Amino acid sequence: MDYSVVIPVYDERDNLAILLQSLTEVMDSLGKEYEVICVNDGSRDGSDEVLRDLERKYGRLKVVEFERNYGLTAALDAGFSMAKGDIVITMDADMQNDPEDIPKLLKEIGDYDVVCGVRSRRHDPWSRIVSSRIANYVRNKVTRENITDVGCTLRAYRSKFLSRLKLFDGMHRFLPTLLKWEGAKVVEVEVSHHPRLYGRTKFGVWNRVFRAFIDFLAVVWMKRRRLNYRIKE
Ligand code: UDP
Ligand code: MG
Repeated sequence: MDYSVVIPVYDERDNLAILLQSLTEVMDSLGKEYEVICVNDGSRDGSDEVLRDLERKYGRLKVVEFERNYGLTAALDAGFSMAKGDIVITMDADMQNDPEDIPKLLKEIGDYDVVCGVRSRRHDPWSRIVSSRIANYVRNKVTRENITDVGCTLRAYRSKFLSRLKLFDGMHRFLPTLLKWEGAKVVEVEVSHHPRLYGRTKFGVWNRVFRAFIDFLAVVWMKRRRLNYRIKE
C-alpha cells in the first residue's frame, strides 16, 4: 500500500460526503494504491450512519468506531496503528484543509520524512489566529523549535517513524517535535485553509490555552529528560 489517509471525525456529519468525494478525486488522480481511514471519535450527530453509507460507496474507505469521544490524539493514534501505507497523510474532516494540497505534500516528502502544512491564510476567528501565533511563538522559543503551525492536521508522514511514537492525550500538537526526536527530517509547506461551513470547532479556550499549556510543560520536561546518549565504543 502506498498511501493511507487518516481522518479524525467528531460530529462532522454534513462534511463527510463532500470530503470523501473531493478526497477520492485527488487520490485517484495519483494512480497509486491507497486507503482512507476515518476514525469516528464518539460522534453523536449521526456521523456514524453517514460513514457506514460512505463505506458502501467507497471501497477504499475503512471506518474505526470509538466507544466514546477520546480526543484527537487518540483518533490519530488509532488511525496510525491501522494504516498500511508507506506514507500516512492526515487531515481534518471538516473541509478546512483542502485535499487538493495533498500532491504538494507528497512531492516534498521525497527528501524528508514529515511534511507539515502551514495555514498561511487562516480562516478562523481573529482571536484564535492571534492566540495561536502567540502560543506557537512561546512554544518555539522555549523548546528551541521552529514549527510554524502546530494546529494544522494536514501533514504527510513516513509511517516507519509513526510506529516509533508512544502518544499521550494532547500530543497531536507536538507530533513534529516528537518525530524529530526519533530522527525524522521535517519540512513545512504552505497549504490553503477554508472557513468551516458545517458543524463547529471542538477546541475552545480551555483546551487550546490551559490544557495545551500543561501539555507544553510535559514536552519541555520530556525534552530535558529524554535519553539521548551516544555510545563511544
Ligand atoms: N476531532 C476529533 N476528536 C476531538 C476533537 C476533534 O476527532 O475530540 C476532529 C474534528 O472532527 C476535526 C479535527 O479533529 O476533523 C480538527 O477539529 P476542529 O476542526 O474542531 O479543530 P480546529 O480546526 O477548530 O482547530
Ligand atoms: Mg477545523
